[in-house]
Amino acid sequence: MNQRMLCALAAVTVSAPGCLTGQQARERGASAITEEDFAQRVGVIAHDSMGGRATPSRGLELTAAWIAAELSDMGLRGGAPDGSFVQRYPLRAVAVDAAGSSLRTGSGTGGQTASLSYGPDILPLAPSRASGEVTGQLVLVSGSTDPERALRGAAVRGKHAVLVAPGSEAGVDRTGFSLAIAIRRAGAASVLVTNASDDDRWRATVPAALEPEVETAWGGASVPAEPFRPLLQVRTSSLESLLAGTGVDLAALQRRATGEVRVDAVDGWTLTLTQRLDTRSISAPNVVGIVDGSDPVLRDEYVVFSAHMDHLGIGGPDESGDSIFNGADDDASGTVAVMEVAQAVASLAMAPRRSMIFLLVSGEERGLWGSEYYADNPSVPVDRIVAGLNADMVGRNWPDTIVAIGKEHSDLGATLERVNGAHPEIGMTAIDDLWPEERFYFRSDHHNFARKGVPILFFFNGTHDDYHGLDDEPERIDAEKAARIARLLFHLGVDIANADARPRWHPESYERIVTDRGGAGPR
Ligand SMILES: [Zn+2]
Repeated sequence: MNQRMLCALAAVTVSAPGCLTGQQARERGASAITEEDFAQRVGVIAHDSMGGRATPSRGLELTAAWIAAELSDMGLRGGAPDGSFVQRYPLRAVAVDAAGSSLRTGSGTGGQTASLSYGPDILPLAPSRASGEVTGQLVLVSGSTDPERALRGAAVRGKHAVLVAPGSEAGVDRTGFSLAIAIRRAGAASVLVTNASDDDRWRATVPAALEPEVETAWGGASVPAEPFRPLLQVRTSSLESLLAGTGVDLAALQRRATGEVRVDAVDGWTLTLTQRLDTRSISAPNVVGIVDGSDPVLRDEYVVFSAHMDHLGIGGPDESGDSIFNGADDDASGTVAVMEVAQAVASLAMAPRRSMIFLLVSGEERGLWGSEYYADNPSVPVDRIVAGLNADMVGRNWPDTIVAIGKEHSDLGATLERVNGAHPEIGMTAIDDLWPEERFYFRSDHHNFARKGVPILFFFNGTHDDYHGLDDEPERIDAEKAARIARLLFHLGVDIANADARPRWHPESYERIVTDRGGAGPR
């Protein structure tokens, strides 16, 4: 028998030499949560090498693998339904199949045959989930003012409309885009906006334009297919070669850029546009670890700690050339808070009476995907989860307070006040929701537990200038403050896990949030 087991035994009988009392052990667990640890872990998760942890991405996978290894090292057991540390949820990636899509000349083109390809010549102008094939006459639209008049009647209806845009080398601008929308609304079979970018700029546009749209692939919640009305951009140079021999003077049409909109038919020319989609099954990770409870009965009940490890990924560069959304506060800070609590709980000689689940989800920024999947596919029966404590953004703003959202909905509010009052040494006061009008209760992962009937508290320091910005960097995290919040969460979690009775909803809140979801607000 090792010292830890010996002390665990002693804790339920008499004190033994070399063993701490329960209270001492708890204080020691809490004090193991340090500013240095906190800063170091935020530095790993929010490091540039994690690439902003978009769902899905390689950086997210690296983050999940690292967190799983950390939880394992701390002595937790895998808490995914299959007993591992990682629960994967299914996603679908839908992209235009460039190889199977093209724009071709057909009959009535004076014997000419030509074909434009997706990638080198054509790109979607807006994300498209439509596939199909349509043959129609070619018309050229030029000018920019008073489009309603020119687009009336059958001017573009059922036709492939090429919008000869104001010839900017920077690609399609806002005027071009809104004209394209107007042409589509007027019934065009497709709209192709000319893009006069040079080779380098066009090539730089290709990956993002052909990037797949990712959607969830469980629960039958598929995005409905759109009608097949593609909105595309076509390279001006590619269009010139397609139109060779038609007598169309593209340069002259470009010079009409500021004039009245005009529609010119290219007599006898029909084109066939084929667009195919490529749909792939992929997945993304949640990380789950469990510390088993010590009470033979209550260990079948669980307190869940959660935070989201994902963020926004990589975007366009700012003036300094930074393009990575590090998400240090959102939500590396909450993720690390959950990890720190896990470490402190796992270090206790005797585990709390109830079991504890430490859940780091992904897909939060895409629409609470990971927590929705976990709540629908939990590793333990959801009615055995007695409380959810979620941390999303706990590393910035006021040094001595943290907002706790949801206090008014269950007796977790009173428990929090009691725990907070019992630990003045932490120097952290949990205060009421400062922004009820923002309805944050419904806007992060905890809500997926609340709607299943699990009472929750949501710890949140509010937004700031760097929220969802490129400057949400690890250097800006107040790790000293965040470590104190983690200590408060540790004490709160242990108190909930050790209480004789599980937390209870206030009846009117249960009515509003759990029973009558329709009245509760947006999901
Ligand atoms: Zn967040």
